[in-house]
Amino acid sequence: MDQISTRLSPPEAPREFGFFMNGAWVPAGDRELFDRQSPAHGVPVTRVPKCTVEDLDAAVDAARRAFDDRRWSGLNGQARAAVLLRTGALIRERADEIAYFETLENGKPISQARAEVLGCADMFEYASGLARSLHGDSFNNLGDGLFGLVTREPVGVVGLITPWNFPFLILCERVPYILASGCTIVAKPSEVTSATTLILAEILSDAGLPDGCMNVVTGAGSSIGQALIEHPRVDMLSFTGSTAVGRRVVEAAGKSNFKKLGLELGGKNPQIVFADADLEDAADGVAFGIGFNTGQCCVSGSRLIVERSVADDFARMVQAKFDKVRVGDPLDEATQIGAITTEAQNATIMSYIERGQAEGARLICGGAQLDMGRGQFIVPTLFGDVTRDMSIAREEIFGPVLTIMPFDTIEEAIEIANDTDYGLAASVWTKNIDKALTVTRQVQAGRFWVNTTLAGGPELPLGGFRQSGWGREAGIYGVEEYTQVKSVHIEIGKRDHWVK
Ligand code: NAD
Repeated sequence: MDQISTRLSPPEAPREFGFFMNGAWVPAGDRELFDRQSPAHGVPVTRVPKCTVEDLDAAVDAARRAFDDRRWSGLNGQARAAVLLRTGALIRERADEIAYFETLENGKPISQARAEVLGCADMFEYASGLARSLHGDSFNNLGDGLFGLVTREPVGVVGLITPWNFPFLILCERVPYILASGCTIVAKPSEVTSATTLILAEILSDAGLPDGCMNVVTGAGSSIGQALIEHPRVDMLSFTGSTAVGRRVVEAAGKSNFKKLGLELGGKNPQIVFADADLEDAADGVAFGIGFNTGQCCVSGSRLIVERSVADDFARMVQAKFDKVRVGDPLDEATQIGAITTEAQNATIMSYIERGQAEGARLICGGAQLDMGRGQFIVPTLFGDVTRDMSIAREEIFGPVLTIMPFDTIEEAIEIANDTDYGLAASVWTKNIDKALTVTRQVQAGRFWVNTTLAGGPELPLGGFRQSGWGREAGIYGVEEYTQVKSVHIEIGKRDHWVK
């Protein structure tokens, strides 16, 4: 059956945003502006202010007041849940608008953007239940004279810094859980993808979130991002982005107020395929794992590790999938792979493709840019004859570039998979339960998939081992991450006096 192809168009003029603070829009005024061009269409699509450090201070003050006067943390779980549920409903109502701006700024296919936005509504709905069920513990075994309680309290003001690859999804893997815990937020989205974070702030306000609980400042990482990570009145910082900036976050926390940190950083994630797998399924999953979001996922399966007896056949199967995948205008409903989000990222990916060849890897397919007349597109790329020391096998490329390495034994597969500084995610494909469980136990990764990849939902936590990060987001684990534990000791009856 022919694919039905319908296409939206980019806007005739960019949408202008202010920033969002204390429950209201703040117009850009005479601040400098950042014009975002669609990476697929080369036309301006949004305009946001470059906030100043004074703007950031004002946003932190608003979040601080909102936290300290308990206008949010002092509400009961039912009231907090009601706001989160209404937010989910409003996201559903505005899903087309949010998905449109997500695609325009990021370059991802519109059908994917829409699915992500609906998934985000689900996260708010799920987190609403967590706002009601969050609880501590009690110790009734301390003897007749003492009773112990362990309570969970919100950490306070959370600074939230997010990247450009999933601007709305990554935001919504954090915001509902942070709010469920009772904290307040100052968010700083990537300068190239700010629109949907600003829209979420408006939606939260419309849903009844008290003023000051969600504030969004826009601008560069090097200026207000850096000021946010150093800010002495921010209690916790949740950072998602590169390992290099993650290091600066750790340094800044040490130099300022030792704020609590949550870090979600890079990955170089293995896909292990055994000869006894359903190879048709595995080839599709592997193609999806590196093609989805143009490989610009922290959890992209970028290192294919295949049992030697099927390695050549399997490479041909993956290549056949790559040949069929539809790369093109992300506003076309039929597109599966859209544009590379920034020119700098496009140049980085192309330079890795050149380095791979210079280091002696064999380009099996792809390796080229697709000329669409405008914007930047790279076709899925597969490298064979890859050795472990090559940069394309070690470094996070963050693009649709897959390397293949063969293995002979399960021990060797596990060793290759663990031969990385990262530990974000991994997948294994086999119909043998013993192999699946052994690999799942022994490969270092915060997220694991067996006979699937990139699957997930709000119930399961996200986060990395090793240099992929600290802490967990989403699920009850995500809510608890934004709390601190207090031990309460309660004396029962008359005190046994120290001074007799
Ligand atoms: P990045 O680290 O350059 O930027 C991320 C965010 O940090 C942006 O908002 C940016 O403005 C801000 N920033 C930059 N410099 C800063 C500074 N000095 N102080 C404070 N903030 C600063 O990353 P990116 O290029 O936007 O995203 C790609 C990277 O993010 C990849 O390495 C990818 O693996 C990682 N990532 C990880 C996850 C995860 O969940 N583990 C998810 C998505 C992306």
